[in-house]
Amino acid sequence: MKKHLPLLPALLILSACVSLPDEVLRQHMLAAPVPDQAPYGELDPGSKSVETSRFLVRAYSTETAQTYATFCEDSYTRLMSDLGLYSFAPSAPYNIVVYAGKDEYLAKTKQPEWSGGVAYGNAIHVYENDAARGVIAHEIAHLVFKEFMGGTDFSQLTWLNEGIAVHAEKAALPASADLYAARVKSLVRPSPLSFTALTSMPPGARQTGSAVEKWYAQAGSLATFMIRAGGNFNFYLFLRKLKEGLPVDYAVGEAFAGTWRDMSDVHAAWRASL
Ligand SMILES: [Zn+2]
Repeated sequence: MKKHLPLLPALLILSACVSLPDEVLRQHMLAAPVPDQAPYGELDPGSKSVETSRFLVRAYSTETAQTYATFCEDSYTRLMSDLGLYSFAPSAPYNIVVYAGKDEYLAKTKQPEWSGGVAYGNAIHVYENDAARGVIAHEIAHLVFKEFMGGTDFSQLTWLNEGIAVHAEKAALPASADLYAARVKSLVRPSPLSFTALTSMPPGARQTGSAVEKWYAQAGSLATFMIRAGGNFNFYLFLRKLKEGLPVDYAVGEAFAGTWRDMSDVHAAWRASL
């Protein structure tokens, strides 16, 4: 994986939850200093912007910017409710840039052909298409997770960071929910990864295809299960304990007292629910 780093523009983060190594690289790169300006091309002159309480959305028409702004606010509000993060607020509005189409997006962000969106600092760049909403919901979850965790090292919590992002994506887009449900049924249910495998083997450069799809589907399924079966407020306590630096087993035991003692309990209950 390290051999890929020099090839990336400074602080590249990446995309939709598609497969590839960028998703994993992101985990290591978010902690690095963030320059003031994103290294991506701006919209052409004449673009419009709409600002809401948590987002500044720019697009080529006010109507498009408003549509995406409304979607962002809805996704954010749903995520806060699901995670029990009622006291959280971003320190500055998240910037959303909506390019007109894939050609402009690829030309201005220099992302690989398969990329559907890119996150940088507190910004998300996408282009108008049916899948953009899923990308935005997924990336908003990453921005919130990163900001909530603050300076805490969450490099060992990739499964949770991605699991929450997949959960948000499923909640925001029925097509995503259907896709992940199908992958849980066909890939995860027959032979779930152990929790150790889930945490120690996030998708990397050598894995592609169904192994990556299975990893993301399981991470999302597990996060959704913990939120629904454990309760939103308890899930918030879980995140807070992790932010305080508690090992995940202790964080589970304290946050979900009376329900689960550790991740082994959680994993067993999740498997039984499949
Ligand atoms: Zn992700």
